Amino acid sequence: STLFQSVELAPRDPILGLNEQFNADTRAHKVNLGVGVYYDDNGKIPLLSAVHQAEVARVEAAAARGYLPIEGIAGYNKGAQELVLGKNSPLVAAGRVLTMQALGGTGALKIGADFIKQLVPGAKVAISNPSWENHRALFERAGFEVINYPYYDPATHGLDFQGMLNALRALPAKSVVVLHACCHNPTGVDLTNEQWREVAKVIKDTNLIPFLDIAYQGFGDGLEQDASAVRLFAELDMTMFISSSFSKSFSLYGERVGALTIVTGSQDESNRVLSQVKRVIRTNYSNPPTHGGTIVSTVLNTPKLFALWDQELAGMRERIRLMRRQLVEKLAQNGVKEDFSFVMKQRGMFSYSGLTAAQVDRLRDEHAIYAVSSGRICVAALNSHNIDVVAKAMANVMK
Ligand code: PLP
Repeated sequence: STLFQSVELAPRDPILGLNEQFNADTRAHKVNLGVGVYYDDNGKIPLLSAVHQAEVARVEAAAARGYLPIEGIAGYNKGAQELVLGKNSPLVAAGRVLTMQALGGTGALKIGADFIKQLVPGAKVAISNPSWENHRALFERAGFEVINYPYYDPATHGLDFQGMLNALRALPAKSVVVLHACCHNPTGVDLTNEQWREVAKVIKDTNLIPFLDIAYQGFGDGLEQDASAVRLFAELDMTMFISSSFSKSFSLYGERVGALTIVTGSQDESNRVLSQVKRVIRTNYSNPPTHGGTIVSTVLNTPKLFALWDQELAGMRERIRLMRRQLVEKLAQNGVKEDFSFVMKQRGMFSYSGLTAAQVDRLRDEHAIYAVSSGRICVAALNSHNIDVVAKAMANVMK
């Protein structure tokens, strides 16, 4: 017998499995709404001008590719920190904030998880129901028990806020609460600032550990607006973890650009925490990659490029809003009686459309339109060329 004889076949990733099915589909008019990627109106992943300019400058500089420090590029970390906490954060001034370049948002979550495991080995981790499908797997792999707190209410296509609050209140002290700081994936349903305030208070009173995951900053209402939950936790002087992803906001998916920010209680704590998180990084992948990091750092630290990026981000955000509005209008035009206006209240790239698993199957089989069986559609995969076909097909399967 060989070493691997007893290895079981792992279940397929549901979304990647969907992509494989889509790629194998030979129908010319097929549409993939199952993805988690922003496409432009021509159905392409954009290369942002701000990114391209920074990239050209980097190539022309013909810079050496030495090792970066374990925690990454200083300018990158400062830029990432300012995006979440703002330019004049008193916490930063007090030396209470650490930011480390990470391999995407996933990498930031993982180094944060590994560090928390060392700090509070018995902690439970609570994630929203539903959540990004990798949250559970990632924290379980880091050794935690993962539980769900209520979040989405299918009856209202909105938030089960009371359920969420009650569940958070019932958690043991020092449980980790993973929160989507904006543009919730997969539902598109976010908290209001008032609701964030209440959640923050419960987290503080119950002595929970907030882990704010921000993977779509700029896709909701704007860079500053989308950071309001993080800013609120900061105002309440809470220690916390923040994982940032720049995959979508810079359209740099494959470069693995993200950051982990930790707010500690003091400068002295910061020094000690940094030394420990650096050990976590060192023993995982040693140090982060140069290319994407340099590009993001250049954009964040060059006012002209930052302004251009902000403008391009607004373009992506507005195109998604337009697609939301048109989808609602076109469903009504195709005779759908139900009120779909909730799609316009949702934020970010995704919509829990309310389609049932059976309707999703029919969309695929009869119309070559692919969505996740939960009914999640990626609004950023809609465009002026496919939206009529999609609205018509959705109306058809809802009859
Ligand atoms: N967190 C959430 C909520 C996400 O939706 C994603 C990506 O889909 C990530 C984290 C991970 O981002 P990255 O691709 O940068 O690792």
